[in-house]
Amino acid sequence: MSENCLFCKIANGVIPSKKAYEDEEFFAFHDINPAAPVHLLLIPKRHIVSLQDIQQDDAPWLGRMMALAPRLAEENGCRPGPQGGFRVVANNGTDGGQEIAHLHFHIIGGPRPWDKR
Ligand code: 5GP
Ligand code: ZN
Repeated sequence: MSENCLFCKIANGVIPSKKAYEDEEFFAFHDINPAAPVHLLLIPKRHIVSLQDIQQDDAPWLGRMMALAPRLAEENGCRPGPQGGFRVVANNGTDGGQEIAHLHFHIIGGPRPWDKR
């Protein structure tokens, strides 16, 4: 846990959130300012700032994190199949538009129309 990190505090329950999923490695919760009917944030419990800090040996857990995305999307209201679907977005660094410095995947979806952001 990194001391002044909002998402570490959320993953540890120090700051409340609307939890969508939790296991030993990962935590998912609903974005406080949703861009679509479904807007989850999926984070590793381990503090890592962004994909810019990923090394080759992070590939296994990063793969598990990516594989969780479709499961959480569908469990939370994104329709399966080509007519359904969802977006996975990771903003990295200042130029990447990242505001919270703890790696997170936005899982965004639900029946259209909704904003393309
Ligand atoms: P970023 O711009 O870093 O990719 O995205 C950060 C996201 O975190 C934003 O979509 C924002 O709405 C969300 N967020 C910021 N603070 C909180 C909070 O305290 N609780 C929740 N649930 N989401 C937050
Ligand atoms: Zn953190």
